[in-house]
Amino acid sequence: MKKTVLITGSTSGIGLAIAKKFAKKGYNIIFNGLETNGAEIAAEVAQQNNIDFIFSPCNLLFPNQIEDMVSQALAKFNKIDILVNNAGIQFVSPIQDFPLEKWNNIIAINLTATFLLTKLCFPKMIENKFGRIINIASAHGQVASEFKSAYVASKHGVIGFTKTIALEGAPYNITANTVCPGYVLTPIVENQIGDQMKAHHLSREEVIEKIMLGKQAIKSFIPIESIAQSVMFLAADEANTITGTSITIDGGWTAQ
Ligand code: NAD
Repeated sequence: MKKTVLITGSTSGIGLAIAKKFAKKGYNIIFNGLETNGAEIAAEVAQQNNIDFIFSPCNLLFPNQIEDMVSQALAKFNKIDILVNNAGIQFVSPIQDFPLEKWNNIIAINLTATFLLTKLCFPKMIENKFGRIINIASAHGQVASEFKSAYVASKHGVIGFTKTIALEGAPYNITANTVCPGYVLTPIVENQIGDQMKAHHLSREEVIEKIMLGKQAIKSFIPIESIAQSVMFLAADEANTITGTSITIDGGWTAQ
């Protein structure tokens, strides 16, 4: 029987790259994201790979929309085998100016939605004695950078949360892990470049070289394929005893 994967934020960047990998392997996919052309993006990937899919424009800020997305997925596929909590947002500001609304939104999307989706997917995973929960955290789940208080807090939270779920899932063949990327050149990073230019009073080139890649030992952006492939590995049968840990793909950033 075909496996089903729900990937949040899968109509852009890393999530889309992950979705394409699962599509190539024939999984049923629940796509999600706020891109206005999200439905077209999902349909194109599905058609190219001849898979069944749902596109949900669910806004992860709202728990009732998350519940609706999961209900819709279970009604169509009767299970969610693999949950990839990938959607995330960023905001860069010194703490004294950090807007409360931005803090709340980052925690809601990066952390609370991960909690809620895990909670909603868990009962079927327990019933089926199979589950893979893969959370896209960040090198910022392990170390901090100035002006990213909410993001760093949310990603540290995702790692702690994932460890807890690994323990709770172990009796049921449910694993939970994080993937922690360094800098991948996607829209979220493009936006950050602008924010960092303002915060640090630097040019685009200086932000990329000094602030971003300056932290990595390997001075190039992480290929999006590396992140997508690590997710596929964690979803595979061979990874069935890997749980409660992180695959860090950060060009040597957190080794220092
Ligand atoms: P991206 O901006 O290209 O994609 C983010 C996706 O999340 C988009 O599809 C967007 O629509 C979706 N999203 C945002 N808010 C949402 C909401 N309220 N409801 C539903 N969907 C929402 O960014 P990306 O780089 O692909 O980021 C994916 C994940 O990887 C994020 O969790 C990010 O924190 C993490 N990450 C990225 C990098 C990087 O350098 N790009 C590094 C470390 C971690």
